[in-house]
Amino acid sequence: MIPAKKNILELPVYKPGKTTEQVERETGIKNAVKMASNENPFGPSPMAVDSLRSFCSEIHLYPDGDCSELKERLSEKLGFNPGRFVVGNGSNEVLELIAKVFLGPGDEAIYGAHGFVVYPIVTAGAGAKGVVSPMPFLKHDLKDFAVRITPKTRVVFLANPNNPTGTIFSKKEFEDFLEAVPKSVVVVIDEAYFEYVEDGLYPNSLDYQSAREGIVTVRTFSKIYGLAGARVGYAVASEKVASLLNRAKEPFNVSSLAQRAAAAALEDAAHCAVSRESNLSGLEYLSSQLDSLEITHTESRANFILADLGENSARIYEMLLREGFIVRPTAAYGLDTHIRITVGTAEQNAAFIAALKKVTGRAKAV
Ligand SMILES: *Cc1c(COP(=O)(O)O)cnc(C)c1O
Repeated sequence: MIPAKKNILELPVYKPGKTTEQVERETGIKNAVKMASNENPFGPSPMAVDSLRSFCSEIHLYPDGDCSELKERLSEKLGFNPGRFVVGNGSNEVLELIAKVFLGPGDEAIYGAHGFVVYPIVTAGAGAKGVVSPMPFLKHDLKDFAVRITPKTRVVFLANPNNPTGTIFSKKEFEDFLEAVPKSVVVVIDEAYFEYVEDGLYPNSLDYQSAREGIVTVRTFSKIYGLAGARVGYAVASEKVASLLNRAKEPFNVSSLAQRAAAAALEDAAHCAVSRESNLSGLEYLSSQLDSLEITHTESRANFILADLGENSARIYEMLLREGFIVRPTAAYGLDTHIRITVGTAEQNAAFIAALKKVTGRAKAV
């Protein structure tokens, strides 16, 4: 046996949702609807697609390893110097870089029991210890996070909104938390769904960047911008933290196609606005339909909702597949009676609810 590192042997494995093609192959169903991975049901920004078309003949050239054009656009949009950005192969890579730079054996990182599954993976990958805040009410309890800080704590991972619950913590909760956290701790605020949120209580973590050196805001082009397949995300941090993270990345970590698509998508305010508006009404629709079926769900502010089916969700998940709907079972998130449903188009949402009624027998299918 070739000896591998112990932390790698014990690494939790990320299981992605099924692709539409897999489901169609397995069930024989045509036109399955994927409501599993929080992708944008309207697809990519058309501006991004146009920009890529004209660019394909240039892919024999290495990308700009510094992502300067994209950083310039981000800088204009968000008002931070380009030197404060870190661009990654998806925000997942940015999370990896944070672990690589700040975590090692003997260190601790704190995350929620029902938080994003990538945090335990990157923590274990760096050989550090994960400290888990239990989230009994399926929301981040920042007071509980603060209590778990020890002299060994190096990083705290918080998603706001959280995946898979869609819940947010408020400005007040966040400010109280920052008061309680030593300045030496890196506070990662993963805002993958930032652009979807409409809530006066929601803190924009960029507003707190000046308060301390160790706040890292992480965002992505995979969600509202519709570029999950291109793999591009970024962080905003202090010059010092950003330069550490940039130093740890591989030289050409983001493909030229991804950089190009992201820069174009960033300018497409109309695509974002349509996606946000549609999502808000879709969330409202799904919430009220679940209410009327007496299915408990979280108060989501993101582009998905977490529903508690009150029984192991594997059976209903399989039945939904056979109706042509792919949702996300959440056992990997420690929630085995739940499914996470990505908000689709109005038409997809209505068809999904009809299928859910049918398979749960809660009401006659319409
Ligand atoms: C989807 C998601 C991401 C995005 O990951 P990418 O690597 O950018 O595709 C990051 N964080 C959370 C909490 C997510 O749900």
